[in-house]
Amino acid sequence: MIQKILIANRGEIALRVIAACKDLGIRTVAIYSQADREALHVRYADEALCIGPPRSAESYLNVPAVISAAEITDAEAIHPGYGFLAEDAAFAEVCEVSGVNFIGPRSDVIRLMGDKARARKAVAAAGVPVLPGSEGPVETEAEARKEAERIGYPVIIKAAAGGGGRGMRIVRNARELEQSFHQARHEASASFQCADVYLEKYIQRPRHIEFQVLGDQHGRVVSLGERECSIQRRHQKLLEEAPSPRVDAAMRAEIGKVLETALSRVGYSNAGTVEFLMDEDGKLYFIEMNARIQVEHPVTESVTGIDLVKAQIRIADGEPLDAILPEKIEIQGHAIECRINAENPETFAPSAGKVTKFLPPSGIGVRVETAAYSGWFVPPYYDSLLAKFIATGRDRTEAITRMKRALEMSVVEGVHTTIPLHSRIMSDEDFALGNFDTRFIEQLQQKKKAASTVG
Ligand code: ADP
Repeated sequence: MIQKILIANRGEIALRVIAACKDLGIRTVAIYSQADREALHVRYADEALCIGPPRSAESYLNVPAVISAAEITDAEAIHPGYGFLAEDAAFAEVCEVSGVNFIGPRSDVIRLMGDKARARKAVAAAGVPVLPGSEGPVETEAEARKEAERIGYPVIIKAAAGGGGRGMRIVRNARELEQSFHQARHEASASFQCADVYLEKYIQRPRHIEFQVLGDQHGRVVSLGERECSIQRRHQKLLEEAPSPRVDAAMRAEIGKVLETALSRVGYSNAGTVEFLMDEDGKLYFIEMNARIQVEHPVTESVTGIDLVKAQIRIADGEPLDAILPEKIEIQGHAIECRINAENPETFAPSAGKVTKFLPPSGIGVRVETAAYSGWFVPPYYDSLLAKFIATGRDRTEAITRMKRALEMSVVEGVHTTIPLHSRIMSDEDFALGNFDTRFIEQLQQKKKAASTVG
């Protein structure tokens, strides 16, 4: 049995892991950078160790420092959260050879999923529908041109090692190809230290829909249904919900079954998310798999009643899914999550500084995940997520009503936040009807501009 876990992360996800550990009676070790001395994860963990200067490269991403912290404190396991070292195959491998239990998939599986071109090929071979695209990375411009012609324009060039919505280029015709191909390779190599790029059919009005899975160490994988994540800014999610207004029980069961077989074939274990795009005809195509817990996991927890972080720990401890999950997974009600980022809601520029007042919402049907408090200083070094508001209802309409109330009954002063933007989304007619795709935020901003010019 795991007795003590080191949490290699900060912010709300570090608190989320601490909560799961407390529920399981497991002791916790926090690590923190010099910029996070006053952070709540430091206060709430049983032990805390400062592991370096503010810059993440020197602290949260410093593998020797993280491993030493686990050794010094006798922590048998490490939970990486999301971001930082969560999908770093080399780190998982260091854990494996150091005898530390890494709470996530095996390092070779993380490596496979981290190479988006290889992952595409592997899941396609196992029967998961993928978008038309290149077989693997394309090395030369001539090859890219040939592939683009075969797939048909428009295509999208993506970095094989990409993430965070960066390094993607849309190519609408043969004329644009040359420049885009070289720029994409250049950007990929600068951002991800790997110049490999691959091609995929570009979908004009996609919805982003993803499936949550859990796999145990005994070969069983279970799908826990989908999340709708089409409300994005700059290819990054802003609001997520479960279930998707566009997925019915038959489609959920069908895709779930395909994924269970495909992922148990690659030896997938622990929590993971399989991302799809839905085209205009309602068909789903795989785009990538994230081998970790996601920011938006609470909406799945709300509609399934399953504590995903507790499940992650029990899986890492060797328990079979039969012991962790109910016999039948049922989706009940509806849940919506709004990401409250410390950023300008119009330009999305990060807004670091002191949070002079922080009064989070509460009340029936509202859950808040945050590490912020009045007087806390948002450091400029890390991502801008300040809080997550999750509203749950019997149905989508009730969840929206409760989210509106939560947004109205919250106060954040001192930094800009995305709260006003979320309030606008909640009052939007197309959102209420479930009529949207990944261009929604851009269109919402245009509607606002049009209204202010008319006014
Ligand atoms: P990342 O790993 O950087 O998050 P993804 O492959 O998950 O990149 O894609 C992120 C987002 O980019 C998607 O949710 C979608 O909005 C857009 N996108 C990705 N691939 C396509 C495509 N083939 N067609 C249209 N949009 C796409």
